[in-house]
Amino acid sequence: MKHFAGVFLAVSLIMGLSACGGAEEKPQDLQIIAMDTAMTFRVYGGEAHQALSDASLEMRRLEALLSRTDPNSAVSQLNAAGGDEVPVGKEVCDLLRAADTYAQATGGAFDVTLAPVSSAWGFTENAYRVPSREEREQLLDRVGMEHITLKEETAALTPGAAVDLGAIAKGYAADQVAVIFDARGVERGWASLGGNVLAWGGRPDGTAWQVGIQDPAHPDDANALVGTLKLKDAYAVTSGSYQRFFEDSGRRYHHIMDPATAAPAESGLISVTVVTGRDQGNGTMCDALSTALFVMGEERAVDFWRSGIFAFQMILVTEDGRVCITSGLEDAFELGGDGYVLETLS
Ligand code: AMP
Ligand code: MG
Repeated sequence: MKHFAGVFLAVSLIMGLSACGGAEEKPQDLQIIAMDTAMTFRVYGGEAHQALSDASLEMRRLEALLSRTDPNSAVSQLNAAGGDEVPVGKEVCDLLRAADTYAQATGGAFDVTLAPVSSAWGFTENAYRVPSREEREQLLDRVGMEHITLKEETAALTPGAAVDLGAIAKGYAADQVAVIFDARGVERGWASLGGNVLAWGGRPDGTAWQVGIQDPAHPDDANALVGTLKLKDAYAVTSGSYQRFFEDSGRRYHHIMDPATAAPAESGLISVTVVTGRDQGNGTMCDALSTALFVMGEERAVDFWRSGIFAFQMILVTEDGRVCITSGLEDAFELGGDGYVLETLS
């Protein structure tokens, strides 16, 4: 049985050439590996150096709190408690409450209790395998937000249940970066946290930052894009089946699970990008929704967007070669990929 696994980036910042050369416009950059992903930061103005050092510490703190593989994290301790109440702290409880809000709003497409399912497919421990239908059916008994009991600062799970905050943690991390940039008076810049982008202000010349949306057909070529997105003071998060997958007997299995089947979602979508302004939403929301809308598929995703329950715009890339953008992105998105057809949703 041959397994091949890949982990690929979803969105990348296109730096471009900056025309401005003033000393005050010199950026400070930082690159770290945290929360299982490459993270890049660029800041201009304010206490730039301290902002980067705070951001780095904060990413490490969140990793130590939320990791599913570090046995000392609050999340791991909750998962290992066998049903006992665990003092996970207010922050983890608040994140689980947010996760519950998105689970309710998406009809269960977003579900952090899919952890035992991700593990059974080997995504947690990099030990890939294809569980049988019978095994998957049994796993679903342990899935559902009703398995989590939350108090102010403690949480408990039904024995056998487990949580994985991987679909929301980097979005939350982007929100924490925004708090730091604000506190340190950063004037402009961005943070790119493995598929989660925070655009802080615009470029020094006043134009928007340009974010490249990865072409899912060429995940190993960072220059292959379905298009570019102009962003100022906004969050953009991409979920895609090309980001993490393995191959077994000629079939490809990716990491975004459908709670209806306990298997990788086959929704007809290959990537979903959710975008919102900093004055309208946050990174946690974009992260949760990009994962959920991937599971829901085009029709349900479009209905969800039209319902207006959350303020966001989206880019759907479909298996049949279409790039569907919502009307709010008409001026911000430019199609760039090979052979994709652009459709605008309203
Ligand atoms: P993302 O890259 O944000 O789409 O999140 C994917 C990660 O979230 C996976 O690697 C799993 O750990 C977890 N996950 C998979 N499927 C779901 C789902 N339907 N709802 C919530 N979390 C999920
Ligand atoms: Mg997500």
